[in-house]
Amino acid sequence: MAILGSTGSIGRNTLGVITNLKQKFNVTGLAAGRNLTLLRKQIEQFRPEIVSLERKEDAEAFRNEINLNNVRLVYGQEGAEEIARFEGNDIIVSSITGISGLRPTIAAVESGKRVALANKESMVVAGSLIQKIAADSGAEIIPVDSEHSGVFQCLAKEDISAVRTVILTASGGPFFETPVEEMRNKTVADALNHPRWKMGKKVTIDSATLMNKGLELIEARWLFGLDPEMLAILIHPQSIVHSLIEMQDGSVLAQLSPTDMKIPIQFALTYPEREKGFLPSLDLRQIGALEFYDVDVEKFPLVKLAQRALKEKNGFSIALNAANEVMVAAFLREEVKFFDIPAVVAEVVEDFCAEEVETVDDIFEIDRVSRIQTRNLLEQR
Ligand code: MG
Repeated sequence: MAILGSTGSIGRNTLGVITNLKQKFNVTGLAAGRNLTLLRKQIEQFRPEIVSLERKEDAEAFRNEINLNNVRLVYGQEGAEEIARFEGNDIIVSSITGISGLRPTIAAVESGKRVALANKESMVVAGSLIQKIAADSGAEIIPVDSEHSGVFQCLAKEDISAVRTVILTASGGPFFETPVEEMRNKTVADALNHPRWKMGKKVTIDSATLMNKGLELIEARWLFGLDPEMLAILIHPQSIVHSLIEMQDGSVLAQLSPTDMKIPIQFALTYPEREKGFLPSLDLRQIGALEFYDVDVEKFPLVKLAQRALKEKNGFSIALNAANEVMVAAFLREEVKFFDIPAVVAEVVEDFCAEEVETVDDIFEIDRVSRIQTRNLLEQR
């Protein structure tokens, strides 16, 4: 198996899972960003045949290290794509964050292998295209996102026509109980302080704005081929129930597990088998109560935009994702306030409601223009 994004949160958890499942998996390739220290350790431990780094200069520096003798070194987007296409792969874990993961994800889907998909943005901007490619190549897309893994597990023996509603849960993030007036002054540190999940910075900020759940709605739509009306969100602060599906007959199936990404990752790797996990059992007596609440879309306006994206042409989703990526990066650099994120994103997406695009180049064009538009609006603030 290959891991695209090996030094990120999903990548590290994936390597943890395969360490536990000894002998079952062999790492063929690793694509990473700039965390060279960790990548070096991963190479020594897992001995991949091919490694990709984000930057050419890092790849060249690596090339001079004697202990990397038999490793083929590549770099950049093309490097990640080369790993996705590597013949020796049976499974590709796609876990590069943001639209940077799109081309490598497409290369993985084109290969016709199993794609364990953690890069939700690629489904958001190119869901229809990716499903077409998968239908042609025979690739099997298994979701890694915990909510989608839950839906996938609940749907296992069900026909989609028997499903009435698919409900994704959201922890509510760090500001679930914060009054709107107080959210204005929330800092990067406040937003990064997620109550339940330990994740990368981008997805943690998206969880604070609830954009993460918005992106997941769009992701679910394309992953499972759902009508927009079938999708719903429930706030569930305990993060134990990851998703629920309500059947036509009124029965509701739910997937529960401890709050740890290793569980959906392992499922995506071993499906349809179940291997022994290595986490403590879920102790519902200790958790005591499972609570569910409505989402306040006025307080978290990005959810409303994502719900609208389900019904608009896909240019809207591409712009939504692009503007959000730019704003989250600006927020992390402390250049904008927390509330600027939804405010600017809302302004950008209006320009792209009417665009329906079908090629990767066209998707990147809308992405590019949306980013420019977002930065222009930022400068005017
Ligand atoms: Mg999720």
